Order: sequence, then C-alpha cells, then structure tokens
Amino acid sequence: MALLQISEPGESTAPHQHQLAAGIDLGTTNSLVASVRSGVAETLPDLEGRHLLPSVVRYRADGAAVVGHDALTAAIGDPLNTIASVKRLMGRGVEDVKRIGEYLPYEFVPGSSGMPLLHTVAGDVSPVEVSAEILRLLKARAEETLGGELSGVVVTVPAYFDDAQRQATKDAGRLAGLNILRLLNEPTAAAVAYGLDKGSEGVIAIYDLGGGTFDISILRLNKGVFEVMSTAGDTALGGDDVDRLVADWIMQQSGMGSDAGHVDMRRLMQTARTAKEALSTVDSTGIELVRDDNAGWSGELSREQFNALIAPLVDRTLGPCRRALRDAGIRASDVQSVVMVGGSTRVPLVRERVAAFFDAEPMVDIDPDKVVAVGAAIQADILAGNKPDDEMLLLDVIPLSLGIETMGGLTEKIIHRNTTIPTARAQEFTTFKDGQTAMSVHVVQGERELVEDCRSLARFELRDIPPMVAGGARIKVTFQVDADGLLNVTAEEQTQGVTSSIEVKPSYGLSDRAIETMLRESMETAAADRDARRLREEQVDADRVLEALHSALAADGEELLQAAERKAIDAAAKQLDEQRQGNDYRAIKRAIEAVEKASSTYVERRMNSSIRKAMAGHKVDEFNSP
Ligand code: ADP
Ligand code: MG
Repeated sequence: MALLQISEPGESTAPHQHQLAAGIDLGTTNSLVASVRSGVAETLPDLEGRHLLPSVVRYRADGAAVVGHDALTAAIGDPLNTIASVKRLMGRGVEDVKRIGEYLPYEFVPGSSGMPLLHTVAGDVSPVEVSAEILRLLKARAEETLGGELSGVVVTVPAYFDDAQRQATKDAGRLAGLNILRLLNEPTAAAVAYGLDKGSEGVIAIYDLGGGTFDISILRLNKGVFEVMSTAGDTALGGDDVDRLVADWIMQQSGMGSDAGHVDMRRLMQTARTAKEALSTVDSTGIELVRDDNAGWSGELSREQFNALIAPLVDRTLGPCRRALRDAGIRASDVQSVVMVGGSTRVPLVRERVAAFFDAEPMVDIDPDKVVAVGAAIQADILAGNKPDDEMLLLDVIPLSLGIETMGGLTEKIIHRNTTIPTARAQEFTTFKDGQTAMSVHVVQGERELVEDCRSLARFELRDIPPMVAGGARIKVTFQVDADGLLNVTAEEQTQGVTSSIEVKPSYGLSDRAIETMLRESMETAAADRDARRLREEQVDADRVLEALHSALAADGEELLQAAERKAIDAAAKQLDEQRQGNDYRAIKRAIEAVEKASSTYVERRMNSSIRKAMAGHKVDEFNSP
C-alpha cells in the first residue's frame, strides 16, 4: 500500500577483490581441505603429497596435540590419549556419550554445561577442542599452499546434523580461527562437485559410505536449488566394519586369540585395512601379520572370498536406501543420478550392489573421498565473492516468508518464501502520526495476510525518530538472512541515522510439518485473507484521513470554513467513522472518497494560506526566477 511503502531499494552487493577461500570436509575418519585455483577446485596435499588427513588427535604429556598421520601411527601405542572419530561426539550430551562411548576406548568426564570431556594426559578436552585441532591444521595447510590468509571457509556437515551438532562444528571453526562462511550439507556439496546444480532438474541420490557411518540422501534440484527430500543411514556402519570382518577372518586363519593385547589388536586392524584397500584394485592380496611375540602369520585373501565376507554388510546399506526413497515418496527408478561418496565406495562390490539397486551407473569420476571437499571449495569460492552475481549458486531457500507488521495488524512481506539465501532486502516505511518519535517493529513469519495468523519472531523498537508530520520520516527496514538461515533485521531513520536491530533465527523450532501446515492454511484461506487485507487497508486509510482532518480542523477550521461547509465536512467524517466500524471495505472506501470530496475546497484554502504564511516577510521577487 502506497501509504506505508515509499520505495524498494532492493539488494545491493559491494564488489569484491579476489579472496582466498577454502572448503573443508571435516570427516569422521578423514578430513580434507580444498580450494579453487585458476578456476579448478582441488584438494590440497600436505608436504608429503597426502590429501587425506586422518581425523585423529593425540595429546602428549607436554600438552602438545599431534594431528593426522603421526597421531594415527602413535594410536597403536597410546590408545587412551589418541582421539579418533570425534565427530560422533560433537554436540552430544553426557547421556548420548554413555551410549556411543561404549564403543570408544576413551575416558569421559562430565564437563560444565552438560558437555562431556575426554580425559587425556594433557588435561580434559572437549570434542569441540579436538575438532578445532584438526581444523587448525587444515587452515595452516591451506594458508601455506595458497600463500595468504583465508578470508572464509565452508565446512561440511551431514545432512541429518541437528542444531547442536552444527553449532558445535561452528564453535570448533571459531576456536581454530576460521571465518565460517557457512555450513554446507555433505550430500549437497557432493552434488555441487559434479555440477549437478547446473544440470537438469530432477532427483539425485547421494550414497555416502565412509569409515564409520553410512548416509543416504535424496535431493531434488528445483530451479537451481537443492532440497533435501529425505535422509537415512546407519551411524554404526562403514569401512571400519569391513576392517573388522577381514580382521576376524585373519584371526580365524592365524589362530590369534581375542585375548591379544591392545598393540596386537591395533596392528591387526591396520593389516586388515591395508588388505581391504588393496582388494579394491587387485584380485588377490597377500597378508602379513606381525605380532609382539613374533608369532607372525602370512596368507592370501582373494576378492571373491572378500566379497563373500562383506556381502551381508553391503546389503545392510540397502535398507536405509529403501527407507529414504519411501520417505521422499519416490521409487528407485525416479532417481536420475546416483553420486558415490566416501572411501568405502571404492569397494567394487559396493558399486555393483548400488548400481543394481538404483538400476543406474553410479557417478565415480571424482575421487569419492575428495568429492565433498571439492564441492565445499566451489561453494566457498562463490560465497567469498569471487564469482559474478549471476553465477551465484543457489542452494537453500527460506521455507516461509518473512515480514513485519504494519498498521492494522497486516503483514508486509519483505522476503518471500522460497527466496534463496543468503539474501538481503530493504523497504521504506514511514510514521503514521504527527510527531511520532518511536516505531515498534514486529518481525513475523508466514504466508497469511494478518499478523495474528503468522508466527511472531521478534519485536523491537526504533526510538528517537525526530518528530515530523505523519508520513515525513523515512524509515528503512532491512532484512538480511545469512547462509545459515539467521535473520538480522535493522531499522534506520534516514534523516538522522538512528538505528536499531535484532537478530532472530527464523526456522528455529519449526518442524517441517509445522511449515507444511502453515503453507496449506495460507492456500486454503487465500481469498478470505485477501478480503481481510483489503478491509484492514481501508480501515487504516480511514484512520489516517480522519486523523489528518481532525488535526487540520483543530488548527484552522474556524478560520477557513463557513458554518455550512463545516457541517458538510463533519457529516462526511461522521459517515466515515461509522463505516470504519463495519466490515465492508468497499463502503469504507466510498466514505473516504466522500470525505475527500467534502473537504476539497478546505484543503485548497489551507494550501493557499500556508503558502501565504511561508511568503510573509519576503518580497515577491524572491520567488521569481532570475
Ligand atoms: P569419513 O567420511 O568417515 O571421514 P572417508 O570417506 O574418508 O571417511 O572413508 C574412509 C573409509 O574409506 C575407511 O574405512 C577406508 O578404509 C576406506 N577406504 C579408503 N580407500 C579405500 C579403498 N581403496 N578401498 C576400500 N576402502 C577404502
Ligand atoms: Mg565423509
């Protein structure tokens, strides 16, 4: 409505110079860092040419933390101070850890605020701190390789990560001195790496079998935006289980008992893992088992034997695949592309079974253990502003419109639903009353026209607006939604620059179901809502007209109006006042027009009189052009 909305300045983004940016796959087993260099996204190796960094941190008695390959090697001799798979503990409470921790050899101690700590020789450390050590090393690697400070990074998380887990990941980033541009879902990153966001619209399955976890995600690409349709998986299924099966086989063959010590067991696991990884490319591999007591063993394992061992395990991933399809409401044949992610998808049997299940050749061109980091790097490059705007990758959308309450309890949508984030929009509003010095900003979310039918997100006040006539102040309200979905609202009075702002988290606490219900309601009630909106608009207009008229009459009604004129105006105003109480927006509109007509001569006289007052004391010449 014209009364409240003067202009829409729209979005503006400042130009950037080239910024160093990186994508980080913070994995349960391995982590990687990647960056776009000369237009190509690639993972960055360490000085020895290794791209994968084992997500392992060893704490030493001198307080130092050793990260990666060295920590992994040392794990054999120092299992209690060597933390692996810390990702499983991120954002978890003491109770969760009791459940998960059964399988982990660490000593847990309860920390403050319900966060479990790991007891090490270097003191008690939190999972966030352990993750930060990994991130710190990857940051250093990237900065050395790229030759400068990173302006920002994108860190990936599993699609199913909840708020606490995402927050813990962000905290780890902050602790490592990283500027996290955003967290990106791992399956989305993989799809981006394959450029599927630029391809045809459709359904994509991301099959991710890593070291200790299995995730299947069904994404839908719609107008360049990835929606997560469903996720499923098994948090205790991955390459480690394959290792255990091979280790069991070796123990059987070699007669090694399960009473073997820590060191022998770790060595056995590494031998099993080496054999497994070899069998992804060779048909048969020799196995050499070294033991503390020199009672070694050697043997041979063929691909065929290996496949027979692990087939039940591979088939266990198909249950979650079926569940994910069901939750998404689609069939396997609806899936257009299947992307393979995770080191364990190098196992040929895994590829075979997945191809058979989806009846499609899975995508494996990009190294499955690098693909997530590559996608994150592409996204980081764009978010850092290294691409022109039209190449902006659109990955997430706002599920429900965001707006503010205007006069009459109406919502004025500022950012519409399905707008891709990050985004910013501004709109100008003005004061309603003469001399109004404060404006209350009520931020709401939803599709309905009336505020009472939407969800209230936050309220704040803009004070110290310089007193002006109604409609004189220009108040710019800016909505900014960052890549993580956090909303920041700022109100600024344009002449004096008085500002006030608030940060709200729009989707917090709203389940997908709640979002769906709100959308359905708004569609069912659209017509009724439109009428309700018109009624409120006319009521607001009526109030404005009456308010202006009364204050004018009080100022100069006596002076400028004759009795008969005054009577006609009063009658029209009374009529409008009555219609204002009813609910016929057309009648209100007519009554407003009647008031405007009855008072038109009066308005003209007022203008003339104010011009005379303004000119008083000046010579007429001053107003003529030279
Ligand atoms: P995560 O995402 O859990 O950090 P990764 O995607 O890095 O894990 O996968 C690690 C797993 O991949 C380990 O179990 C590792 O043994 C397995 N893996 C790596 N290379 C191969 C290979 N060539 N053949 C079979 N498994 C492999
Ligand atoms: Mg992974």
